[in-house]
Amino acid sequence: DIEDRDGVRFNWNAFPTTRSEEVSISNLLGCVYTPLNNTEDYPIPLLDSSPVTCSNKLCSSVLNPFVKEISLYPTNNINTSRYWVCPICNQRNTLLNFNPDSIQLPQISLNSTTCEYILHDYKKSSLFSPNIILFLVDLCLEQDELSSLKKSIITSINSLPQNTLVGLITFDSIIHLYELGFSLDNKNKNKNKNKNQNITEKKSFFKKIHIFNIKNENQLNLKKFQKILAINESGLSNYDYQSKSNFNPYNKNFPYQRFFLNLDNQFDKFYFIKLINGLNPVNKSINLHDLNNSNLSSKRFLRSTGSALAISINLMKSIFSDSNAKIILLSAGPCTQGPGLIVSNDLKENIRTHNDIQKNNTKYFQNSSLFYKKLALSLLNNDKNPLVYNNNSIIEINILVGCYDQSGIYEMQPLTNLSGGSIIVTDSFKTNLFKQSFLKLFQSEFSTHINKDTSQFQSQNLSSHQDSLLKISVSNNLKIRGLIGNATSLKNHSIMSSDDEFFKNGLTNEWKILSLSPRNNYSIFFKADTLSNSIQSKNKMGNDALIQFQTIYKHSSNTHYRLRVTTVKKFTTNVIPLKQSFDFECAIVLLAKCGINKILSDPYIKYNDIIQETDKNLIKLGLNFGNYDKNDLNSFSFDNINFYSFTEFVYHLRRSNIFRIFGSSPDETAFYHHTFLKSNVSDCLLMIQPTLLSFSIQQPDEIVPVHLKAASLLKENIFVMDAFFYVVVYYGEYAASWRDSDLDKTEYVNFYTILENSRNEAIEIIKDRFPLPRYIETDEGKSQARFVMSKLDPDDFFKQNE
Ligand SMILES: [Zn+2]
Repeated sequence: DIEDRDGVRFNWNAFPTTRSEEVSISNLLGCVYTPLNNTEDYPIPLLDSSPVTCSNKLCSSVLNPFVKEISLYPTNNINTSRYWVCPICNQRNTLLNFNPDSIQLPQISLNSTTCEYILHDYKKSSLFSPNIILFLVDLCLEQDELSSLKKSIITSINSLPQNTLVGLITFDSIIHLYELGFSLDNKNKNKNKNKNQNITEKKSFFKKIHIFNIKNENQLNLKKFQKILAINESGLSNYDYQSKSNFNPYNKNFPYQRFFLNLDNQFDKFYFIKLINGLNPVNKSINLHDLNNSNLSSKRFLRSTGSALAISINLMKSIFSDSNAKIILLSAGPCTQGPGLIVSNDLKENIRTHNDIQKNNTKYFQNSSLFYKKLALSLLNNDKNPLVYNNNSIIEINILVGCYDQSGIYEMQPLTNLSGGSIIVTDSFKTNLFKQSFLKLFQSEFSTHINKDTSQFQSQNLSSHQDSLLKISVSNNLKIRGLIGNATSLKNHSIMSSDDEFFKNGLTNEWKILSLSPRNNYSIFFKADTLSNSIQSKNKMGNDALIQFQTIYKHSSNTHYRLRVTTVKKFTTNVIPLKQSFDFECAIVLLAKCGINKILSDPYIKYNDIIQETDKNLIKLGLNFGNYDKNDLNSFSFDNINFYSFTEFVYHLRRSNIFRIFGSSPDETAFYHHTFLKSNVSDCLLMIQPTLLSFSIQQPDEIVPVHLKAASLLKENIFVMDAFFYVVVYYGEYAASWRDSDLDKTEYVNFYTILENSRNEAIEIIKDRFPLPRYIETDEGKSQARFVMSKLDPDDFFKQNE
């Protein structure tokens, strides 16, 4: 309920009051929070008034329903006696300049613990900027692959919102940066000033390609890059998007107009589509400088993906100062040349495996990981201190792969994990999975541009918002320990943050978020400020604790920023016993997210160590919350079903693709980890333990969830398994033969009902999911049935087959 309404869920719903309680929960008290959570059941009030904030600078919480005291209508009607007492820091705040009517009821109503404010005056300079998309296209691929990719790009262009600029970089061994634009026939320029028709007739398309042949990292220096392109830095920041009078698509004074076309202009759009249509794959013999075609089959393409990414980022940094930009990398294979090299172009050399990385037995892994990590940090504009921004542009990197081989996602993932972009991995640009995911990427980003958001309540939308800030304040019996997610610490260490840096993203209560969508989730960890096991400690912790999340984000219309405020009140164990407050679903997800976070911060960490740590956590939980006789192993029991369920999930987590690398490539693992870190509790649970739904002719209109056991797979039933990354429709042996034998539709109406219902259920699951799952239809005994069999309880499976 609370997750639906406030988008927040804790592993322990009663906070510890003593040291020993903290130890018993392994010091792991946390929540999964979805800042832009939206549900139809609980519409979020949207307020057009300024938020009322606590005057204590260390706190600056927003007035909320848990306010200690509030006096809005004092009897003597003297302004000075209007006040409210902050429930987080106990500061008494006057409401001197407030008209009581301006305090809208939702702010203090217990039904709206989440509220949203329109901030009219916040960061005005970065409003009204265009949407910017740079396509970064790999040309090392077959003609039919590229044709399919070109179609997808062109379709996406047609669905982009107004005020979108597009640019293009292509790469193989060298990198092509397209300078685009129009030149005017100067003689007619003034005469036809007001007659657009004539101007467009006189202008001609202009295209110049800058070629970069990068061999080492020094060649990627930003200043050198700007010099090569003769970009005048002073032109960078002066452009005022707000005053339309400045906007002249033919004015070449502003550097962006040399490299980006505005889709609002039909001619620009036409030329961009023409440009995409004109792309050709690189000829392998030219790419390899092997015109005799002697070695082609033993070599990979020479591909400079790393340098191409660096040049894209350099370009964005050089020509936009206050904008939101997205780089869309369309990759058809691994980087085989220059900085960011994943594997050499000699096919005899294999691309690194998990085993190679774990044994530190790789030629390139260390250097290339470091290169992409540095590139990711450069997105923060100032590598050392993200607080200092000399450029307010926000760049989001998206990596889309259409190839069967690995392309180096494992090394490149810091780029997406930090910037909040997406990773989509498919076997080919020709697959439906790629085509639909690609379109969905754009639809989900921009769908709300079409509907002007004028309603009082925020409508459900999926768009991403660049340039966000998350701030958390806590009551004085709590400290913030750290955060996992695509957010960067702003190093605002105060009394609210704990002194131990839990996740390298601690020592703060404020984080910058480059790109935030309603799908993005953050794991935040807290420490109860216990003293000892004494009564004093219990008294200090009191009966409850308060946490307030404030998220500022730029609305996707680019016309204003908004502030989302969620305030939650949690009881302590003085009120509810720990045992009864356990949310096993949130607990397993937090545990897995912590594990992934460890893997991401240390690429050489042993996955087995992470699994062992999970086991230790489980054992500790058993020791602290189970009942047992020390002398009798069989005596062990939990008196709360939640702990049993937790044990079952730990079992599945150990076998899931999240922690088990056997059978996965590093790129696949990176994709799973990226998605898991971003997702909310219910999606994460599906990644750990799939659901299996049964459709039977006995009850054709019912969908029955069944256990992941071989015994569940009845021969006459149809099943739908949802494993998040793939959805399987599985036909039992008899069901499959009925399906294929063209039964009479009137006689076997029940069978036709479950045939339709099972497919519809699968479609329903796939429809709203991002990244799109693979869809598999298979029968009992067929090879694809392994997707179901591999998720079943193995003991049970063997028993069945004995
Ligand atoms: Zn306060």
